[in-house]
Amino acid sequence: MPDRRHSSRRGRILHAILVLPLAGLLVAADPYAANRERMVREQIESRGIHGAELLRVLRATPRHLFVPIASRPMAYDDHAVPIGYGATISQPYIVALMTDLLAPRKTDRVLEIGTGSGYQAAVLSQLALQVYTIEIVPELAESAQSVLSDLGYRNVSVRQGDGYKGWPEQAPFHGIMLTAAPPEVPQVLIDELANGGRLVAPVGLGWKQELVLIEKDANGRLRRRSAGEVLFVPMRSGGP
Ligand code: SAH
Repeated sequence: MPDRRHSSRRGRILHAILVLPLAGLLVAADPYAANRERMVREQIESRGIHGAELLRVLRATPRHLFVPIASRPMAYDDHAVPIGYGATISQPYIVALMTDLLAPRKTDRVLEIGTGSGYQAAVLSQLALQVYTIEIVPELAESAQSVLSDLGYRNVSVRQGDGYKGWPEQAPFHGIMLTAAPPEVPQVLIDELANGGRLVAPVGLGWKQELVLIEKDANGRLRRRSAGEVLFVPMRSGGP
């Protein structure tokens, strides 16, 4: 008995010697790991989003690397964060809610309008086959492209352009997500939605928009429902 106790204490000490520095290294490598875990538990799971794959992806995506350096300490807070050029990275819960509504599958090709920081595209890319994303501000398109490729998200194509024009060369898409608000869902984008596909968008002018889910059935018929009120930057027109 005394021997076993002794060896188990030695085991614990050995465990501490081996594991503690390793944990320290991991924390040093990702100082925001605890913030991210808290974000998923307190802002997303607690509000009713439980899809295991989506939660896994949110736990794995380094949101702080998608915001300006000065804003990193607030990257996991329960609100949107400005990223320059009048754009914001959406509140974590809204990213989760819209992704949950879109429900991308591993075989889906997805179009996003409003690349912004690239964070929503990174989340989608881990759940879908390929993500195409359009950003109207050249500087944002460029910086999102470089963050996404530095972090190794290889199945995302970023295009600088006007989302009102869609991406005809790659259409149709199984999923389309708008992260800037048009006054009404552009017909071009409804036309680029495949049969059986889903489109999620904030719709409306001004300070009160409706989050809309449009489903196109196998026969091309549309069904539309509202998923609550949201606040997004307006989708601007890039002209003719
Ligand atoms: N999905 C982003 C959040 C984007 S904020 C993220 O995860 O960070 C909305 C973005 O839509 C802004 O970057 C804005 O410049 C862009 N935008 C506005 N109008 C647009 C348009 N017509 N076409 C493409 N992008 C547009």
